[in-house]
Formats: sequence, structure tokens, C-alpha cells
Amino acid sequence: MLRRLEFVSLRRVFRAELESKEDSGHIYCSMPYKDKAVRNARARQKRAIHGDAIREYHRLYQRKYRAKHLSKLRAYQREWAIAQRRKIRGENFGKRKRKKTDREIRQTRLARKRRYHYRHRERINVGKRQKRTDNPEKFRGIDRLRYWLDPEKRRHQSRVARAKRTGQSCYISLEDWKALLVRFDFRCAYCGTEITKRNRSLDHRVPLVRGGTNDISNLVPSCLRCNQQKHSMTAEEFLIYFEANSL
Ligand SMILES: [Zn+2]
Repeated sequence: MLRRLEFVSLRRVFRAELESKEDSGHIYCSMPYKDKAVRNARARQKRAIHGDAIREYHRLYQRKYRAKHLSKLRAYQREWAIAQRRKIRGENFGKRKRKKTDREIRQTRLARKRRYHYRHRERINVGKRQKRTDNPEKFRGIDRLRYWLDPEKRRHQSRVARAKRTGQSCYISLEDWKALLVRFDFRCAYCGTEITKRNRSLDHRVPLVRGGTNDISNLVPSCLRCNQQKHSMTAEEFLIYFEANSL
């Protein structure tokens, strides 16, 4: 509690302060409790002195209040949260207009699974790797089947894995690669043979070992034969070689 003496001296201080602020719009009031500035300053000083005790009192009081009115408070919070969401997402929040179709349910479920997998990917991947080392024969068969089903996708995956391993962060997406094939009319960029599902390959015009990148500008579709013969030549070198040997 403030003592009388403190109160008086405080009043003097504030009076001086207020008088110095002549044009600030303050009207000096001889009754300090009626003057907002004085009242606030007094409260501030009180808090500075007894702050910890005041805070402790409030904390205790709140704890008691919460314990007494817990269910009421919870209900209020729930209501408030729903109202808030309705305000943000519109009137129809929480009211389903129609039943979800089977497809939508499947998609939601799939999305949830994906999220779960992403969150726990490290643990899952460790387990998967362990399984692979435990039964290699089984996985060899599975891998072969997968390759046979969609060779392009499997090759793409191994390319991505290699890019990751060698620290090349970006790699052409499967869509971009397919677009590239269309642009080259499904023909080898070097010999012009038709590219089929079995002989198609992705060629680096400047090979990775000679500082080429995985940028799309450095990539062309080629047949497997050309890609193997080209080996570590650049595209220009290979075309000269190609002409010279009249392949
Ligand atoms: Zn070719």
C-alpha cells in the first residue's frame, strides 16, 4: 500500500509534469483520482511495487475460478471456436451440404495416409531398407516386375535417386520428360530411330562426368544404342563421330 507521503509527493511530480505539457490538451485536476494520467501513473507505481503479489493473487483466483466453472468455460470456448470458424470460412461451415462420394472418401483417406507417411518417413524408410536386406530374392522379383510394368517410371526414379546422391538438387520431372519426348516426335536426337518403350533413354548433351547439369536444356531423348556409344562424349563430339563412322 502506498503511504500518504508518497501519494502527496507523487501528486506534486505529476502536477509539474502536466504543467510542462501545456498544449497537450490535459486539464489539470486538483483531485488526483479524477485525473486519468495521475490515476494511471498511480496504478503503474502500485504495480511496480506490488507486482509479484498482484500477479500471484490473480493466478490463484483464476485457477480457483476455472476449477469451479470448468464445464461452462469449455462449452463457451467450443461455441466461440465454431463461431470464429464460421466467420472465417462462411456461414456453411460445419453443415455438410451433401454426402461425400466414394471417390472423395478414398481421396481423403489417401491424403491422410500420405501425410502420415511423410511425418514418419524416416522410421518407415529404415524398416523398408531392413526388409530389403532381409529377403533380397523376393525384392529382386518385385523390382523386375515393377520395371517391366513401367520402365520409364523406374528409370526416372533411379535418375532422381542418382541426382540426389551426387548432390544435384533438381531433376527433370516425369511430365517434362514426356513433353520432351513429344517435342522430339519420339525419335532419337542423334540417329532418328523411333523411340519405343524399350529402347528409350535420357541423354545428357554434356555428360554429368564432364560437368553437365540436369537442366532440361542439357537433356535430349535418345535410343539406348546411341546413348551407350556416346558414352562420355558431348553431343557435338558424338555427331562428328557418328558421321565419321557412318553409323
Ligand atoms: Zn539413336
